[in-house]
Amino acid sequence: MSVCIFCKIVDKMIPASIVHESETCVGFKDINPVAPHHVLFIPKKHIESVDKMSESDSALVGKIIFEMTEYARANNFSNGGYRIVNNTGADAGQTVFHIHFHLLAGRKMEWPPG
Ligand code: 5GP
Ligand code: ZN
Repeated sequence: MSVCIFCKIVDKMIPASIVHESETCVGFKDINPVAPHHVLFIPKKHIESVDKMSESDSALVGKIIFEMTEYARANNFSNGGYRIVNNTGADAGQTVFHIHFHLLAGRKMEWPPG
């Protein structure tokens, strides 16, 4: 049985506020939001990080990004803008080792990030 917390969310073994689901991915509210809108989009397939993806995963990852933009448009984030973030590896702040993209919206973002 998987010990990955995000696989458990995909399998509905632990609760999450799921806001989007498709054949390839699940989107759910981050438990510790850092913006008024903070949703994590993850592949249903377990892949540790983008650094571990293979070329055959590229279409899957591209589809997730596209679904994120659809979600952003449907929720009117496009006017003000939004940020898609992927942390890869410990130094970048990755804490859950199942690929996830943060969708952040609803406030002005700083650059450069910390
Ligand atoms: P990372 O730091 O790896 O880029 O992002 C992991 C994110 O997952 C964090 O923002 C954290 O708040 C979120 N997170 C960790 N565990 C859970 C959980 O069980 N449920 C939800 N909804 N979010 C989680
Ligand atoms: Zn997983």
